[in-house]
Parts: sequence; C-alpha cells; structure tokens
Amino acid sequence: MITLSTPVEQINKIGAATAKKLQRLEIKTAQDLLQYYPFRYEDYSQTVAIKDLKPGITANIQGELEFIQNKRSFQKRMMITEALINDGTGQLKVAWFNQPFIGKNLKAGDKVSLAGIVQGGFLGLEMVAPEYEKIGLGKLAHTTGLVPIYHVTANLTNKQARFLIKSIIGAASQFEDILPEATRRKYQLLDLAKALVNIHFPQSQEILIRARRRLQFEELFLLQLKTQIQKLEIKNQKSAIIKFFKEETNKFVQSLPFKLTAAQKKAAWEIIKDIGQDKPMARLLEGDVGSGKTVTAAIAMLNVALNKKQSALLVPTEILAGQHFETLAKLFKGVDISMGLFTRTNRKVVSLKSYDLQLDVSKEKLLKAVKDGKTEIVVGTHALIQEAVEFRDLALAVIDEQHRFGVEQRQALRQKSGNKLIIPHLLSMTATPIPRSLAQVIYGDLDLSIINELPKGRKKIATFLVPEPKRPGAYDFIKKEIANGRQAFVVCPLISPSDKLGVKSVEEEYKKLNEHVFPELKIAYLHGRLKPPEKEKIMREFLANDVKILVSTSVVEVGVDAPNASVMIIEGAERFGLAQLHQFRGRVGRSAHQSYCLLFTESLNEQTRNRLTIFTKSNDGFKLAEADLRQRGPGEVYGTAQKGFPEFKIATLNDYTLIKETKEAAENIASEGIEKYPKLLERIEKTGEYVVG
Ligand code: ADP
Ligand code: MG
Repeated sequence: MITLSTPVEQINKIGAATAKKLQRLEIKTAQDLLQYYPFRYEDYSQTVAIKDLKPGITANIQGELEFIQNKRSFQKRMMITEALINDGTGQLKVAWFNQPFIGKNLKAGDKVSLAGIVQGGFLGLEMVAPEYEKIGLGKLAHTTGLVPIYHVTANLTNKQARFLIKSIIGAASQFEDILPEATRRKYQLLDLAKALVNIHFPQSQEILIRARRRLQFEELFLLQLKTQIQKLEIKNQKSAIIKFFKEETNKFVQSLPFKLTAAQKKAAWEIIKDIGQDKPMARLLEGDVGSGKTVTAAIAMLNVALNKKQSALLVPTEILAGQHFETLAKLFKGVDISMGLFTRTNRKVVSLKSYDLQLDVSKEKLLKAVKDGKTEIVVGTHALIQEAVEFRDLALAVIDEQHRFGVEQRQALRQKSGNKLIIPHLLSMTATPIPRSLAQVIYGDLDLSIINELPKGRKKIATFLVPEPKRPGAYDFIKKEIANGRQAFVVCPLISPSDKLGVKSVEEEYKKLNEHVFPELKIAYLHGRLKPPEKEKIMREFLANDVKILVSTSVVEVGVDAPNASVMIIEGAERFGLAQLHQFRGRVGRSAHQSYCLLFTESLNEQTRNRLTIFTKSNDGFKLAEADLRQRGPGEVYGTAQKGFPEFKIATLNDYTLIKETKEAAENIASEGIEKYPKLLERIEKTGEYVVG
C-alpha cells in the first residue's frame, strides 16, 4: 500500500529513470508528489460533437479512428502522423508532428478522446497536435474536464506527472488535517483530502476554487500563526530601558555635516521612544538607498552607549562592515565612547574621544573588550554571531540590509544580551521598498518606520532604456566616463551561458567586454558562486579604482558605497523587478558626479517595455514597487534572493482578503493558547525559516 512516506521509486510503474527526474524536482516521496501542485489547468470540459466544431474553440472530441498513418513530410525531415476521427456526427482531420509513436500506439478502430484547439485549415477544420488518450482504459485523465498542468522539467511530461499523481491520489486521505475544526467551519474550508484531490483533478471550476483556497489558507495561516507565537514569546521578555540623552543627542545632530531630513528625524524619534521602554523593540527601518538610514541608527546607538550599554551593527559583507565602521567613526568623533570592528579578517578598535585608532587588533583582545563592556558599539559581519562573541550588556542589535539575513541569525544575535532574561532591542534596516500593507504580512509584527525622502540636493540618476542599435554609442559613453576617472557596473541576470539560453550571463558578457569592447581597460566579474574572500578581493580592487568595470549578477545590490562609479548598465533588464532594478541603480549616484543607469532588454513585449519605461521616469523606490506590485507578484518584484520572504507552494501574497482572514484565524488560535493545538504546534516547529522575529 502507498503511504505518504513511500519513496517514489516504490510507486508502481516508476522506474529508476523517472525517479531521478522526480528527484530533480525535489520529489522524493508520495507526499511530495501529492503536494506538487499544478500551476494552471487546461479547460477541456466542453465535449463537442464534430459537426458543431468551430475554429478557435478549445474542445474535447470523442470518437473512433477511421484512419491513422505515419508519413514523412516533403523534405523528409519531419514525421507526420495523420488521422481521421469520426464521432457519428462528422469527420475531423488530425495531425501530429515528429511523434511517430502515436501512429504506432493507435490504430484504426480505436476509440479515442482528443483535446486541443480547433483550427480552420486549408481543407476544412482540423486539430493539430492535440492531447490524446484511448477510451476504455479507465477514467480519462488528459483530455476531458479541467486538466492540470505542472511545472515539469525537460524529461518529465505533464502526461507522466498526471498519470503518477493519479495512481496515488488515494493516499491523499492519509494527510492529517491540522486545521482546527472550528476554523474550518468558520471559514468554510474544504477538508484537506478533498482539497488535494481537487487541486489535481478538479471536477468543476467551483470546487477547484475552493480547493485552492483551502490549501492557500493553510500556508498563510501557519505563517501568521508563527508570527503570533513569536510575538507572544517576545511579550514575556524584557529589554533594557534606554534613557534619552537629549542634550548630547542634539549636540551630535548639530555636529553632523548635514541637516537631517524630516523623515530621518521622525524615524529616529520612533526608535528612541521604543528603546525607552522595557518592551523589546522590533522595528523595521525602511528607506530608499541613500536616504540616510545609517545616521538614523547611529542616533539610537549613541544613546545606548551613553546609557553605558552596548550596540551591535550586523552587516552582510566585510567591505560594508569596514565602510560602516569608518562612517560611524567620523560621525562619532569626539564623543566619549569606543567602537570596534569585528569581521573574519579585520579587527579594529577606535576610542572616539581622542580618535585613537588601533588596526589589526587581536581577536582575543577585541573579544575581551566587548565582554568587559569597554567597546560600546561593535560593527561586524556574520562572524559576530558565529564566533564566541559575548557582550557584557547588549541592549540594541541593528541589522543592516536585513533581507540578507535569516531568522536564525537574528535570533542568535538576540541571545547575546549577556543576560538571559533580557533581549536586545532589534532594529532591522532595509532599502527594499515594501509598501506597508505587504510589509505587515511578510514582517508580521515588526513596527515600521519609513524614511520616504532623500536628502536635499541629490542629483537624479539619469536613466535610459537603450535600444539595441545604440549599444555602441553607450559603450563610447562609458569609455568617456572612464577616461574622466569614473567607473561602471554591468549587471547580468545569470552567471554562465548554460544557465539559460538567450539570457545574458556574467561570464559571456565579461568575455565580450574584456576581449572586444574594452580591451584596454581592466575589467573584473563577480557572482555568487565565487568564494567570499574572492568576492571581497574583487570589490576592493573596484573600490580602489583599479578595476574600471565590474560585471556581476545581482550580488552587487548590497549597499556598498562605490562613490566613484557613475554608470550602471543592466542587461536583460526585463528579468528583474522594478524594486530590484532600483536597488542596482542605487549603487551609483552616491557622490557629486552625475550618474547614469542604462537598461538593455531583448524583450519586444509591449508591457515589459512600458514597465521599464516607467522605471526610467521615476527615482522613487516606493512608487516603483507599488506600480510593479499591481502588475506582478511580490516574488517577481523583489526577486527571489530575499531571505525572509516566505516561499509558498500555492499561496500568494496578492490576496489581501485571504491574508486578513488567516491573520484573524491565527490571532484567535494564539489567544486561546497554541498549546491546546499540539498538531499545529508541531507543524510550526517543523517549518523553518519564515517570518522575521
Ligand atoms: P542608506 O539609507 O542607503 O544606508 P546611508 O546611510 O549610507 O544611506 O547614507 C547615504 C549618504 O548620505 C551618506 O554619505 C550619508 O552621510 C549621507 N546623508 C545621510 N543623511 C543625510 C542628510 N540628511 N543630508 C545629506 N546627506 C546625508
Ligand atoms: Mg545602508
């Protein structure tokens, strides 16, 4: 008997070869197979008499083959299978190309069921390459009703996928329905087994909608429930109260080489108010690239230090850590505090009152200073969490570019307060412009501060969609910029040409630019498959203006300051969401030099070109994200590299009604007490990364 844990190889008729193909889709057990949901359906629910067929309709036809034969086409290159089908009301011509096995499998006299689009051919109506199956071998699965279409890979066909799933669909009843009875009743949800059967083989459009809703509900509900539970856990914990040092803060703000924007002040004040309470802060600071999040966080860190407590600033790369350390050291110059830099390869300490900077500090020495509380602010990378860093009194954890970190990493940082009963206040920062409504789902119960204005006087980054014939002109332009001392980025969607045909890859593009377009310039490339030290080395060479052009995948999006770069070229721009494009663009324009962003696309799709044109006209990340979200899902808008974005099997973040219902349902369960629902608790503990805590 098939159980949910039966490995796919043991399912009847699955050979080793098919099992391998399934493995590639991460399908290992019967359960995986049943949860491999179709992404759309072909509607073959109209069974039409041949005499009533009209060109253009999609139909199912059932009748007897009068004639079938394979023959070679004129030029002999193609094998054509020709057939005639008769259903008693008329005759229809059918043809398949290069599938000679059809001519062998079927023979005149067979009763068959066909499905496809009816075409008005030269000599009357016909069907070209319809789906087909013999009648009389069991229930029809491929040619009538709503037929599921799966995201199959190369060698596995939809027909095989359907056949396999159908053969084990009975096991759907073994799934344990973890949704509480009352929840199911209140939201009128199908029971799980029924939903599973109907998501694969829906009897009607109506039941399909209900099946999909049931499965989506469960995913969103679990996500929300997890958030609710985290929220409750935090509620029972305390954080240090950080007293506001008004005078010192004013003095600091006045010492800055610029005036804070109103949005920065508002955000800083929200943070100050939060950390003034013993309830742990959990706040997300969103602000466009260059909006000045660092100094906003610095105000909070300053107050923590003045309270004789510690802050940690966690950043995703060594280079960025170094840059933040330097920036903050400049800002805090003269204040009576000490700051440390802690990365895998780089450790520094600076006493800011006398500006006494020590380079190459030993690990032991820095760890001790942090443990003794002598270093009030520690800037660092993952090393800060991974290694044996202990704080005396960590009161504030700031996470920069938070989408680069997973929940575990945030949790690990939280456990470093030096006191088990106290957790640090948490400030996450991101330049990803996520509208409030969406942020509430993804980030559950983080409070939100948004810096929605850029400092005055920033130059707009001139952005153009460059038509292919003007490419040489664009390269000439880059040459001029580089001759003037500037540098350029080139972003490509893929790493190597084999990743996907026809899309620009880093390796190809690097080769082309290096050998043919700019042979006289030093060019380097960067992508996620390089080891971190290699990446850092290349970034350093670029920052030193040694490398003039950096070709890379989206890894470049992280907030490194390369003020000398003035041109951002984006190849295959249609492959990125507007929010992501905006992040790339934010890599340039970080100094007084006028900067440029040039987009290339091979897409001729009008909608795509419109989307890109909108991008060339707006420099506002939030507006762009909102515009894009209206057309496409969050996954596409923000790219898949975002940690903390939930990965759903079937749910989407687009259905706000369902999101609201699931949130309400989760709140109800959480307030009743999750311990009353052991099955839910077990499931939530099993699902890993999801929500920000
Ligand atoms: P991001 O929000 O992208 O992290 P940063 O904090 O790195 O931005 O700030 C970008 C640059 O803007 C820095 O050089 C910073 O010193 C500067 N800056 C920050 N706030 C202001 C302001 N109010 N006016 C002018 N420049 C500012
Ligand atoms: Mg930043």
